[in-house]
Amino acid sequence: MKNLIIGFALMWPLAACSTASQKIAPSAIQNATSANSIVSVIENKDWLHGSATCETDKADPIDVLKLDNQTFILRQNKCTTFEAPFLYLLIGSDKALLFDTGAISDASVSPVASAVEDLLQQYSPNQNSPGQTLPLVVLHSHGHNDHTAGDNQFSSTGTVTIISSDIAQAGNQLGFTEGFRETNLLSLGERKLTIIPTPGHHKDAISLYDEKYKLLLTGDTLYPGLIYVKNWEAYRHSIKLLFNFSEKNEVNAVLGAHIEMSNTPFTIYPVGSTFQPNEASVVLKKNDIDMLHKALQTNPKARRVEFEKFIVQPMSWLQRTISNIATLFF
Ligand SMILES: [Zn+2]
Ligand SMILES: [Zn+2]
Repeated sequence: MKNLIIGFALMWPLAACSTASQKIAPSAIQNATSANSIVSVIENKDWLHGSATCETDKADPIDVLKLDNQTFILRQNKCTTFEAPFLYLLIGSDKALLFDTGAISDASVSPVASAVEDLLQQYSPNQNSPGQTLPLVVLHSHGHNDHTAGDNQFSSTGTVTIISSDIAQAGNQLGFTEGFRETNLLSLGERKLTIIPTPGHHKDAISLYDEKYKLLLTGDTLYPGLIYVKNWEAYRHSIKLLFNFSEKNEVNAVLGAHIEMSNTPFTIYPVGSTFQPNEASVVLKKNDIDMLHKALQTNPKARRVEFEKFIVQPMSWLQRTISNIATLFF
């Protein structure tokens, strides 16, 4: 999330304590066998959360949570990137979708593409063609580097389509001839998704709703951490859209792209932390959308708003300027 904002200040310390290249061990994959327990499984998952001694960290570079054989949550190890973003792999009957590619372009540090490929190969919808994988669509919550850096690990060939993080281009690629509306249906076959444009943190930010498990994936628009907002008015409107959507559609969990809060209410880890031993759950709920929406509507002024599980803060002029400059390079 904060790559573009604080990256300059921190001199891009990404991968400062990278683990050695390695395949994702099967032991990293945990099973959630009951669909009804999906949310509690996510809530109770003890994610890899970095190490006090990353130099000697031997943990897998990517933590993988299997919810069923068509639904996976991946998290990059904090010892490979302090951002430790979450990536979501949703597999339908006709195609699969990866929501974000993470903070690391170097596959030898964080092999996102091969991990996703392995998971796709384990799912064979066609019993007559075992090993034949579904086409993969790569979509981004927004264009910040910690969500797109892994793109270059995916060859944009016949089976992988990388959707631009520029929302206008994305609309064209996805066949939305009139551009994005407030809600936009995306079909993976029998599995239906809804894209909701949610600018504010980033001008081209989107959220993604999975009808199957009623999961709302919100990227850096809403997650348990310090959420910087570049355009406050746009953000207020986006949260209003999410509120309206969640009033009409069941939302079992709101899942963002980072964890930066401790499990002690109102407590955030220092920026750049590579070890978060008591971090909060990644799961937020509809109630969190409701509280945020109410706060933003009650007082429209751009200001820091603190909740137990997350903090929303407008970017300063300096932060916006740095962000604008950084945009030129990514
Ligand atoms: Zn991010
Ligand atoms: Zn971001």
